[in-house]
Amino acid sequence: MTDILGHKKVFDVLEKSSKDGQTAQSYLFSGVEGIGKLLVAIEFACMLNCSRYFQTDHSKCNICDRIRKGNHPDVRIETPIKGSFKIDRVRYLQSFLKYSPVEALFRVIIIDDAHLINRAAQNALLKTLEEPPAGSIMILVTAKASYLLPTVRSRLRKVKFSPLGRSLITQELVGTKKLGVEEADTIAGLSSGSLGRALELHSTGTIHLRKSIMDFLNAGPEFGLAALLELSAQVSVDQRKLFEAIEFGMTWVRDLMTLKLNGQASEIINTDLIDILNSSAQHYSIEKLLSIRDLMSNALISVDSETNINRNLLSDVMFLRIRQKMNETSG
Ligand SMILES: [Zn+2]
Repeated sequence: MTDILGHKKVFDVLEKSSKDGQTAQSYLFSGVEGIGKLLVAIEFACMLNCSRYFQTDHSKCNICDRIRKGNHPDVRIETPIKGSFKIDRVRYLQSFLKYSPVEALFRVIIIDDAHLINRAAQNALLKTLEEPPAGSIMILVTAKASYLLPTVRSRLRKVKFSPLGRSLITQELVGTKKLGVEEADTIAGLSSGSLGRALELHSTGTIHLRKSIMDFLNAGPEFGLAALLELSAQVSVDQRKLFEAIEFGMTWVRDLMTLKLNGQASEIINTDLIDILNSSAQHYSIEKLLSIRDLMSNALISVDSETNINRNLLSDVMFLRIRQKMNETSG
């Protein structure tokens, strides 16, 4: 019935279980970051507690309005504080669940970024998951379900969210950010199906970094040494930026391989650069592209795993090796 950000299937399942009286008491909502899992959890709390939710005249509703704003006495939307969710908060929520709902049918607790609930707190939570108080529903929302203890996971009904389609993200960007279709589609292609990621690429201006990386990769050995070192210095100022730069580089390799292997322009990420990508694809063999990708992924692993790393040096070495590899006549 309701289609929140393309999660109609998930919503239909939740709707059906609620209408059939088959609602579970504990849920795990999982799927990549930034696709609207929390939004669906909040709507689910509305669905459970509002008798008019599925009626056609359900527009301005005091109950749902307060739930969505976090002002309803029976629904709590919790998020970790300073990257952590500790045992005292779990104990507090357990005492909240002991009492019957004040107004609603169910007391609902939604915990966003639930992977940040620490181990001791997860163990404390187990008690509630094993014997949930009558009329209580708990929803854990996370992009990193594997961080939860297996004993916790096994007691939750799993609801998996798929990444969003590229066209849906494009529409959202055009509609809410007034972007042109081409720019929106490019950002959508780079977002790995996450609207949150797409909005971040747009708002932080990270998308401009892609252009610089693409300019280098498409120019290859022709790209001047001084300009290359300047680009390297620019992207290695912080870890996050270097990550982004390397990931953009990997989309270039992916696009060229796609063009070489089956020539399907529709599967390209950097659609706005299709002409130059087609031309670049002529210059490199699959083997060479794989070697370039290895240089990038090795750098990515080093940035991620080594703490006392000289980022600028690592970045210089990566860029120079890529340029050298492009210049080699064979392999
Ligand atoms: Zn309502």
